[in-house]
Amino acid sequence: MTTSPSNHFKYCPRCAAGGIFDFTDKAFKCHSCGFHFFLNSSAAVTAIIFEKTGKLLMVRRGIEPHFGALDFPGGFIDPGESAEEAILREVKEELNLEPYKIKYWASFPNEYLYSGTIVNTIDLVFLCSIDDFSAIKHLDDVMDFEFVEVSSIDVKQLPFLSVQNIVRRLQNTKDPTNF
Ligand SMILES: [Zn+2]
Repeated sequence: MTTSPSNHFKYCPRCAAGGIFDFTDKAFKCHSCGFHFFLNSSAAVTAIIFEKTGKLLMVRRGIEPHFGALDFPGGFIDPGESAEEAILREVKEELNLEPYKIKYWASFPNEYLYSGTIVNTIDLVFLCSIDDFSAIKHLDDVMDFEFVEVSSIDVKQLPFLSVQNIVRRLQNTKDPTNF
């Protein structure tokens, strides 16, 4: 597969030896200097935010991949940052909102095509409680936001496997605003 990291990492990042790796889905190892590097899933956070009427707050992506597609607020966890810090930072950065309470829900693996290479991620989903939406504005890598009925979302139009699976699970949850 041309998007596999094994097609893009041609030289050892430590000793610059080329073409002499043991490469698996999880790691590569340089035969020349012994450098061993693991391709672990990158941790990301996803925000589930409902407003009082039960509509779900989603965003329109303002960046590639999947520019313009409906998505959840969220993003990658920075090095040294906790998942709780990351979800609060992302909701503030993308929507100028400050949840008063967050609650971990579930995790969803994803494949994120970036710069032509597949990045495996694990999306940690948090239910974010917000009382006051008056400060909302779309910022950062978000071009717009929408309040949508969970039941009306067409899963096939969603950009990522994890986003599709999160919405499917919400659609199959009796009271998704209270999980
Ligand atoms: Zn090396």
